[in-house]
Amino acid sequence: MKRVADDVLKRHRLRRTPSRKEILGLFFDHDYALSQGIIEQRVSQASDRVTVYRTLKTFLDKGLIHKVLDTDGGLRYARCNETCVTSNHHHEHVHFKCTQCNQTSCLNVTIPTVALPKGFRAKESNLLIQGVCGSCE
Ligand SMILES: [Zn+2]
Ligand SMILES: [Zn+2]
Ligand SMILES: [Zn+2]
Repeated sequence: MKRVADDVLKRHRLRRTPSRKEILGLFFDHDYALSQGIIEQRVSQASDRVTVYRTLKTFLDKGLIHKVLDTDGGLRYARCNETCVTSNHHHEHVHFKCTQCNQTSCLNVTIPTVALPKGFRAKESNLLIQGVCGSCE
């Protein structure tokens, strides 16, 4: 999947370093969100912790990946769809955590609008639903 990663980096006008290709490739190899720890385990020795951290930060800024909040307060990252760019990087979709395989994935389901009290204005919303995913059901 490094080939796809290469194209995406090119499209976002990012320098195509081996670390970036490798890390972005992981997101194309998996349908679920990845934690920094998992990414560190899967990449080659050439990408150390700092490289992984910096690469994830660049991908977040540029609209290649987005954060997924986990139930334990930790963070995972998921691939963005093609419409995300730096200036427009919204994720109004539901995330689903499977309590059996412990994987969190993006669902193609929009977060419903919640009526807020007067004087409150929403800027961003996150919705994580827990249950059993299609593969474990
Ligand atoms: Zn995005
Ligand atoms: Zn599952
Ligand atoms: Zn998502």
